[in-house]
Amino acid sequence: KVVVVGSANVDLVVPVPRHPGGGETVLGGSLARHPGGKGANQAVAAARAGGADTTFLGALGQDESADLLRASLEGAGVRTDLLARVAEPTGTALITVSPDGENAIVVAPGANSLVAVGPEQAERLAAADVVLAQLEIPVEAVAAAAAARRPGALLVLNAAPSRDLPADLWPAVDVLVVNEHEAADLTGDDDAEPSALARLLLERVPAVVITLGGAGSLVAERGGEPVAVPAFPVDPVDTTGAGDTFCGVLAASLAQGSTLVDAARLAAAAGALATTAPGAQESVPTATAVADLVQR
Ligand code: ADP
Repeated sequence: KVVVVGSANVDLVVPVPRHPGGGETVLGGSLARHPGGKGANQAVAAARAGGADTTFLGALGQDESADLLRASLEGAGVRTDLLARVAEPTGTALITVSPDGENAIVVAPGANSLVAVGPEQAERLAAADVVLAQLEIPVEAVAAAAAARRPGALLVLNAAPSRDLPADLWPAVDVLVVNEHEAADLTGDDDAEPSALARLLLERVPAVVITLGGAGSLVAERGGEPVAVPAFPVDPVDTTGAGDTFCGVLAASLAQGSTLVDAARLAAAAGALATTAPGAQESVPTATAVADLVQR
């Protein structure tokens, strides 16, 4: 069982000839609305691509965006009974995309700032094999989720987006998943190689996965040599959601008893397939497609 504790956002995406500067208005193309948010994306990935019994613990407003997100989660088979309905609007990401594919993003957290762990949530967290969290919700909620775990259950923390972690959260983390930028932010070292970043992070957590986009990932565990997990070669059309798909499948695979390296291989296949279709949740592949790619 996996419980994902995190954010849900509606992504409002507009193609623009160029990003507007301060005080400027730019006419864009047609508006698209996509279900997103790191937490919801990862929950969809754990359920659909990872095949795990997955519950999403998050908060939505009372608006149309909430309906879109709930439908996407439930469509992927995610349990939504711990999804709170709160008085803030559903989290919203305002995204402009320039012709070279560069995104400029503003996030209004809204309901996500009210994600909290009460007694009902704590009971379900205690039944999880893996608790997966990110940093688009209050760190207090992440810490409370970590504290509600049963002994032996893993906390997988995707430390994204970058922010300082409170000192008391570090000892709760079993597996830290970060990209190179986040690893540099956490260590304060901008120039180090991934293996050096992993070594620094292993001083604080027992296991680290550093994702490297099209270059794959590095898996490092205390007391062992780091293992490079290659990326699966694909022709990417939209890399949105690749990192989230990777995290969701990694957690699902760990919950099913895989080693960290085997989980990272499956996650890499899912992440690669996620880049071959647009969107975040819409591009999450099925477990069958992931298994086919791994066996090829
Ligand atoms: P983030 O979006 O968080 O920065 P990454 O870009 O590192 O995450 O992607 C996460 C994982 O998804 C990578 O480790 C890799 O396995 C897979 N992936 C991402 N981009 C590609 C790509 N272009 N080709 C193949 N696999 C990819």
